[in-house]
Amino acid sequence: MSARQPDDALACRIRAAIPLLADAEGAAPVAYLDNAATMQMPRPVMDALEAFRTTSYANVHRGVHSLSLAASDAFDGARRAVAAFIGADEQEVVFTSGATDALNRAARMLAPALDERSNIVVSGLEHHSNLLPWRHLSRITDCELRVVPPDARGALDLSAFLQEVTENTRIVALTELSNVTGIGCDLAALSAVVHEGSDALIVADGAQGIVHGRRSVRDLGCDLYAFSGHKLGAPCGIGVLWIAARVQERLEPESFGGGTVSEVTEKETRLLGSVERFEAGTPNIDGAVGLAAALRFWEGFDAAALLAHEDALLARLEAGLTLIEGANVLGSCPARHGCLAFSVDKGSPYDWAKIADGRGVAVRSGHHCAQPYLRALGCDAAVRVSVAPYNTAGDIDRALAAFETASCLLK
Ligand code: PLP
Repeated sequence: MSARQPDDALACRIRAAIPLLADAEGAAPVAYLDNAATMQMPRPVMDALEAFRTTSYANVHRGVHSLSLAASDAFDGARRAVAAFIGADEQEVVFTSGATDALNRAARMLAPALDERSNIVVSGLEHHSNLLPWRHLSRITDCELRVVPPDARGALDLSAFLQEVTENTRIVALTELSNVTGIGCDLAALSAVVHEGSDALIVADGAQGIVHGRRSVRDLGCDLYAFSGHKLGAPCGIGVLWIAARVQERLEPESFGGGTVSEVTEKETRLLGSVERFEAGTPNIDGAVGLAAALRFWEGFDAAALLAHEDALLARLEAGLTLIEGANVLGSCPARHGCLAFSVDKGSPYDWAKIADGRGVAVRSGHHCAQPYLRALGCDAAVRVSVAPYNTAGDIDRALAAFETASCLLK
């Protein structure tokens, strides 16, 4: 982990654009450290939503009137903005309602490719959203689900994982970054080996990865990549499933209806050739506009500087936690990004989070929708602290002070 100091000047510049974190007179703003759940919304995103709703609100791709054309322009522009942000082609960007929706849709679209001889390989670091859709898929297709436990550090055991991938593997699903420990999986290394030895499709859960560090999905080597807008400062209810053009023919649309077809006769359905064939019904138009605004906001900052600042915040936190009795940081890895979690020997994680809340510090407690992973790490519940670029060293110090109090108060 980086030994650099947090860049509070950078954090304060970003923070000035986050209304909820602005200093209210006489009141300290909350130390918001639950960013892995949902990031706070920057003012430019609110402004973009307001402008769209007050000037261009209408349905898309269905009308010839000016408002519909303006809405369509905004929506198509949002798709281009997402594509540019992830280094993809706009015809590879499918709007969904979030990462969970994207992963479930991917599972449904891949169902026809599976039978009882097939297997799906999933890492043991997953959020339930990248485990349960595959478990369900294995049940309804009678194929085998292989879940590969993490190693003793809580990281992906690459060689154990690769041993499970066989010629019958149709899907490999894993996270880019854990939402519990902040430990990442080396998708590029894994993809290179998997693609060489099998024609399995690699589905990456980018819900946390996309927030910490900027990259092209092409460099990750995966075939599908899912993420949520609200973890980047966009509104809830918008997300993305990136499907590489080279594999789109291998997926069957799983929802049907308006916006997906070029022609419908009494008996036949002719689907569009464009990516809209995967988006049945009226999309979340203003969600897409908000997502584009959020991505533009983050593009205004140097991505490497943002990540270095966040890493320095986590390093400060981890160093402080080692001095607090009863707090045990989960997993060990030199490259932790975005969050870390700790189990507690005194009271429960809930108690620690409530005591922190009483001191104006927002952190998450519980199983973090990753129960098998937490159990592999030796506990059922933990406190999670997750950072965003607008957090300062002061936020971390407030959290540490609150945890010190919890450690003193609880038995
Ligand atoms: N995957 C990971 C790693 C996550 O952290 C989350 C949310 O916390 C999800 C998937 C699900 O995201 P959403 O609830 O936005 O669909």
